[in-house]
Amino acid sequence: MEFQDYYSVLGVARDASADDVKKAYRKLALKWHPDRHTADKRDEAERQFKRIAEAYEVISDPEKRSRYDRFGADWRQGQDFQPPPGEQHMTREEFERAFGHGGFSEFFESLFGDEMRRSQSAQRARHGRFEHRGADVRAELALPIGVALAGGKSRFEVPGTKACARCGGVGFVGEHVCPQCVGVGRLHDRRTIELAIPANLTDGMTVRLRGLGEAAQGGGEDGDLFLTLRLVSDDRYRPAGRDVETDVALAPWEVVFGAKVRVDTVDGPVTLSVAPGTKAGTRLRLRGKGFDDGRGVRGDFYAVVRIVIPQLSERQTQLLREMAAAADDQVSGGAREGKRS
Ligand SMILES: [Zn+2]
Repeated sequence: MEFQDYYSVLGVARDASADDVKKAYRKLALKWHPDRHTADKRDEAERQFKRIAEAYEVISDPEKRSRYDRFGADWRQGQDFQPPPGEQHMTREEFERAFGHGGFSEFFESLFGDEMRRSQSAQRARHGRFEHRGADVRAELALPIGVALAGGKSRFEVPGTKACARCGGVGFVGEHVCPQCVGVGRLHDRRTIELAIPANLTDGMTVRLRGLGEAAQGGGEDGDLFLTLRLVSDDRYRPAGRDVETDVALAPWEVVFGAKVRVDTVDGPVTLSVAPGTKAGTRLRLRGKGFDDGRGVRGDFYAVVRIVIPQLSERQTQLLREMAAAADDQVSGGAREGKRS
């Protein structure tokens, strides 16, 4: 396992006073608390925050600090470390059985797990109930365009967080960093929600789902879920900014003689006329049938012509053979050039 240099994590000297340790921790915890960071930085912030909380749990506790100090100053952050015999008190499995899956490092668990267990019952007795509104939660949902076009209601699994039950969302149990959430106060969670697809859906729009955020603690109101919708490709539709693209598959004779095809757009099904002689790859535009850009400007919908050979009947196969024979006759004249699609 990796050695954790708790002094360097907190940026304090090995002989720092309890007061200095507390100050250093507060400063770093404010800087790195996941709630103070945007979604893209939150994972890194949480990782940093947990390192800091773990270091504080050890260095702020005189007993833990003295046990830790016995390893001396020769160890460096991340060095491979095996506790000397007699120092290993708890395996990761034992720790998780006692505290549930927490965020402390393996290093911490092996050195201090037993001590955490001893003080746990006393801490629980001290921890009273309190009431607070559940926090609002922000999440992103990747919405396949086909689902967005179909409208109606759909069920989705979204990432979220819930208040840590062990510490009631405070991050501390008594004087100690909560072993369950390691000071963050919240745990990762996944939940299923039912979302009514908004009629004016745009890529990147945020919808507010009341009461679907974090649950309240001991009464009070549940938080809200702010869900940002991101349009993503599926096997039929591709986003291109506010435009949408889909392929329409036509048989060779349909592009030669023209055809009518049905495509599902943002406004529902539309019948498209494909002109005789249309080439593969042609992008047929349905102006203003794409998604709203959020400022009232609608994008376009593009149907891209693809030529496919459908399942052929015997008679069709025979006719194609005749076509192929006729094409062979043209080879000498070079008429084949440019005929490929
Ligand atoms: Zn907790």
